[in-house]
Amino acid sequence: LDIMKNTPELLAAYKSAERTGGCSVMTRFPPEPNGHLHIGHAKAMFLDFGYARREGGKCYLRFDDTNPETEKQEYIDSIIDTVRWLGHEPDYITYSSDYFDELFALAEKLIKKGLAYVCHQSSEDIAKGRETMTDSPWRDRPAEESLRLFHDMANGKFEESAASLRMKIDMKHDNTVMRDPIAYRIKYVAHPRSGEKWCVYPSYDYTHCLVDSLEWITHSLCTLEFEVRRDSYYWLIAALDMYRPFVWEFARLTLEGTVVSKRKLLALVNSGRVRGWDDPRMPTLLGLRRRGYTPSAINEFCSQTGYSRNANVIGLHKLEHVLRSEFDERCPRAMCVTRPLEIEISNFDESASLLKVPIHPKMPEMGERDVQLTRQVFIERSDFRDTDEKGYYGLAPGKTAMLRYAYPITVTNVIRSDEGEVVRLVALCDYAKSVKPKGVLHWVSCTSKPCEVRLYDRLFKSADPGALGGEDIWEDLNDSSEVVLDEALVDEFAGNCNVGDSFQFERVGYFTCDQDSDSNRKVFNLTVTLKDGRK
Ligand code: ATP
Ligand code: MG
Ligand code: MG
Repeated sequence: LDIMKNTPELLAAYKSAERTGGCSVMTRFPPEPNGHLHIGHAKAMFLDFGYARREGGKCYLRFDDTNPETEKQEYIDSIIDTVRWLGHEPDYITYSSDYFDELFALAEKLIKKGLAYVCHQSSEDIAKGRETMTDSPWRDRPAEESLRLFHDMANGKFEESAASLRMKIDMKHDNTVMRDPIAYRIKYVAHPRSGEKWCVYPSYDYTHCLVDSLEWITHSLCTLEFEVRRDSYYWLIAALDMYRPFVWEFARLTLEGTVVSKRKLLALVNSGRVRGWDDPRMPTLLGLRRRGYTPSAINEFCSQTGYSRNANVIGLHKLEHVLRSEFDERCPRAMCVTRPLEIEISNFDESASLLKVPIHPKMPEMGERDVQLTRQVFIERSDFRDTDEKGYYGLAPGKTAMLRYAYPITVTNVIRSDEGEVVRLVALCDYAKSVKPKGVLHWVSCTSKPCEVRLYDRLFKSADPGALGGEDIWEDLNDSSEVVLDEALVDEFAGNCNVGDSFQFERVGYFTCDQDSDSNRKVFNLTVTLKDGRK
């Protein structure tokens, strides 16, 4: 284990620390509360929480809240909720801001050691200096002067861009991150937690490693874009003679047809192109949850995709596959007609109208439900055609098909509007079941409930829209990612369900009841199709 690289004194301190409780593994999941969590975070959590759990260790949920201008309490609350929804229970919930006093004291120590200085260069000049490997003119000022100016910074004596605290590392280092990174910057912004107390805030590079160390993290797992920051991470820990965690990076999850970056997701929300952070098309955990995805399916997906240092775009079918398998096993079946066409049964027989239907054909223990055949029934408009064809099993004039769980019917008459549109069919029912037609149709009766069905498809047309530059990404949006069918009819059984309940609507797909439902009229989201249509 890499923490063995610590001195015996630091190892002893690790073992006796109250937070570690003697555990040999300590991890953390460190989201910045500047947006809601997405599927990529689920993957990071599966590793952070999962690894600690497996090794009998502990895992922190740590809010990395050092950018007060973009962070909100609303996001903090939502993140805690989502972490628990996924089944992870943090051993500690902490905030980088909990350590602002300690971090400030460590900065004073770093200055006194001659390893940090107050710099007055503008951000453009700092960038230029890094490019040309030129030292800041303030780099070698005396430590006492930097210390006094650092206090002036914290006491509000400077304009925002007039001073910053920089680590004194190496302006000629091969890794540009090592060219005197910023430790503190001035921001006259109130913080969601520390309020008005501070006008200087520590940077990511300064904060992350120190808080990992203060929290006795053994395995600091993060995504590959942080790899370049590893040098400065270890430099700062060593500069302050602190306990040293082990850092390991893995590739970010990129999911086909969507973007997994809070910034881009926020832009989508702000542009009004989706219903919000919890839009069922969003790869956010709020969106997936509303769509009908379960914690078990999401965790299984994380487990199946694995962790490596090779970045690649994961096919959407992999995510869909785990949910489809789960739903196939446990979801009750129901019938829903998304675009109804009325049929009148001319020989309707009341005495043969009560039908017993299994809730799950492969699981008799789930029981049966009553389905009532009525004189008027409804089938899917696409299950009727004017002209029959080979290989077509739906209804046509004079043709017979089976109403699932009921009887065969034969179309005897087609009623049309003045414009020639089919408005209603008349059919004869074969109660004796004397034929066994190939076509078996889903249908609902007059006892069904009106509902709205929302069909969903991927948000973007291309596989990796995140790779598209600037405005091109909006050109790539899939215009038919949401199709609303607001005249659908569903079995009474499903029409009386609760928000979040999922069903297989036979022949149509797996659906989950949406929060926009009311007691008279449910809204159902297409969670996943019955088959992978992309193969
Ligand atoms: P975003 O760009 O979406 O804001 P981020 O990396 O800035 O992502 P954080 O909230 O800082 O988001 O991330 C918290 C943790 O989740 C980090 O350890 C980060 O590496 C990890 N993480 C973020 N996005 C992904 C992803 N797509 N795949 C795997 N892990 C991720
Ligand atoms: Mg971040
Ligand atoms: Mg980010």
